[in-house]
Amino acid sequence: DDLGEDYDMLLKVMIVGDAGVGKTALLHRFKSNAYNEKYSSTVGVDFFFKTIHSGGKKIKLQIWDTAGQERFRTITQSYFRSANGIIIAFDITRKESFLNVPLWLEDIKKYAGKNVVLLLVGTKTDLDDLRSVELSDVRAFAAHHNIFDVIETSAKTDCNVEDAFYKMAFELKRIH
Ligand code: GDP
Ligand code: MG
Repeated sequence: DDLGEDYDMLLKVMIVGDAGVGKTALLHRFKSNAYNEKYSSTVGVDFFFKTIHSGGKKIKLQIWDTAGQERFRTITQSYFRSANGIIIAFDITRKESFLNVPLWLEDIKKYAGKNVVLLLVGTKTDLDDLRSVELSDVRAFAAHHNIFDVIETSAKTDCNVEDAFYKMAFELKRIH
């Protein structure tokens, strides 16, 4: 682990989004470069550290996984305040998970800090045949909701997973 390691910045990043969109799979891919078909659903919250390098700086990310289910919502809410960045994840094959993004934004508005950085992440691009959310619609939505960028990923095929976290880290570094 990263204990005792020095770093230039410590940033807290949270991931939220409906249950089953692939939040845990995305984090597991980023953390361990691995993928399983079966993840047990996350209970409450969970976190790990990962240090990355960006622009000559050592950035230690503390990454918080959350449960998407309604019954864990108040637990998730209590973590928003300390987050520097929040990834809002939806499944590009499940339109409902995209239509629920405004509900996540409501909670973020209520409980997160004013300068929180928001990144919208579409998951499961390996299932492009089943796509029900168009990237152009996602971009338009982001532009109207103070979300700084959008990226589509696949934890399964390892597509854009590192890029999502580097995008977030780069933006956080830029504003801090
Ligand atoms: P969470 O509830 O948002 O944490 O979702 P999980 O990470 O537990 O993922 C739920 C299920 O979605 C997993 O068991 C996988 O079967 C599937 N899944 C997650 N990521 C991907 C992906 O990138 N591609 C595909 N095809 N399935 C995925
Ligand atoms: Mg999970």
